[in-house]
Amino acid sequence: MAYLLAIALTLLAPAVAQASETVSYNDKLKEALPGFEMPAAWLRSHPPFRVVGNVYGVGGFDLATYLITSSEGHILINTGIEGSIDDISANIDALGYDIADVKILLSMQSHFDHTADLARIKEETGAKMYATAPDVRVLEDGGFSDPHFGGLETFRPIKVDRVVRDGEVIELGDIKLTVHYHPGHTEGSSSYGMKVQENGKTYNVLIANMGTINPGKKLLVEPTYPGVSEDFATTYRTQKAMPVDIWVAAHKSQYGFYYKYDRSKPYSPETFADPEGFVEAVTKLEAMYRVQLQQEAKEREAAVSN
Ligand SMILES: [Zn+2]
Repeated sequence: MAYLLAIALTLLAPAVAQASETVSYNDKLKEALPGFEMPAAWLRSHPPFRVVGNVYGVGGFDLATYLITSSEGHILINTGIEGSIDDISANIDALGYDIADVKILLSMQSHFDHTADLARIKEETGAKMYATAPDVRVLEDGGFSDPHFGGLETFRPIKVDRVVRDGEVIELGDIKLTVHYHPGHTEGSSSYGMKVQENGKTYNVLIANMGTINPGKKLLVEPTYPGVSEDFATTYRTQKAMPVDIWVAAHKSQYGFYYKYDRSKPYSPETFADPEGFVEAVTKLEAMYRVQLQQEAKEREAAVSN
């Protein structure tokens, strides 16, 4: 019996090792998230563009990746889905920079459509992964413990090298990037802010994680995670109170990229200047949040009276 088991194990071992090396997370998503269809916009590439100053967009058609450059190396925020490393790298090249000079990796939210290739970029560049405390667990287990999309890995796990606090300033060369906890969308969702000077003007720039509520998420009745409703409320309140001149977000659709940006026009720091638009976008999300709270309260009452 032991002999047969040994044979079985030797036969199995190479197959298992091979499988784990060639695991495709894009394929695994079908199993992890039944009914999920990859939006076509997530597979499309997009040329790089300059947001303002030393902040560049190097991501895809909808999934946003940001590069902040300095003479001491760069900060890269988010990836797209698995495989997006190639387009991100090509976009960085096209700007005249090198992905090998990325020193710090950040994510705005630990969901696979923004984190899938962080581990590969870390391996290839030696960059350090920084993350907010509540997102560390999900990043390190590849989304397994995600309270909404978890149960199976949805992206390649990445080891976090340093935990960043709310309000902390990440410095690299002359980059000073402030971490803003904006939880709700994920437990550790965060935005990143910095000041950029252009033409004698100082702009408050926010790479904003918007408080969108994924379908099926529960706020009140059996909340997706304890405190999720309070987290969203805090995020809307603090975001509306922030001084924001220029903003971008994790999805191009969230900040009206295709209304604001015209590739045929020369670079202008005003392209993404939109202070009112930011407050409007947050206010809209907050209104949707309130509608969902009311619906859930009604459902709870109906359940009690039945
Ligand atoms: Zn998300």
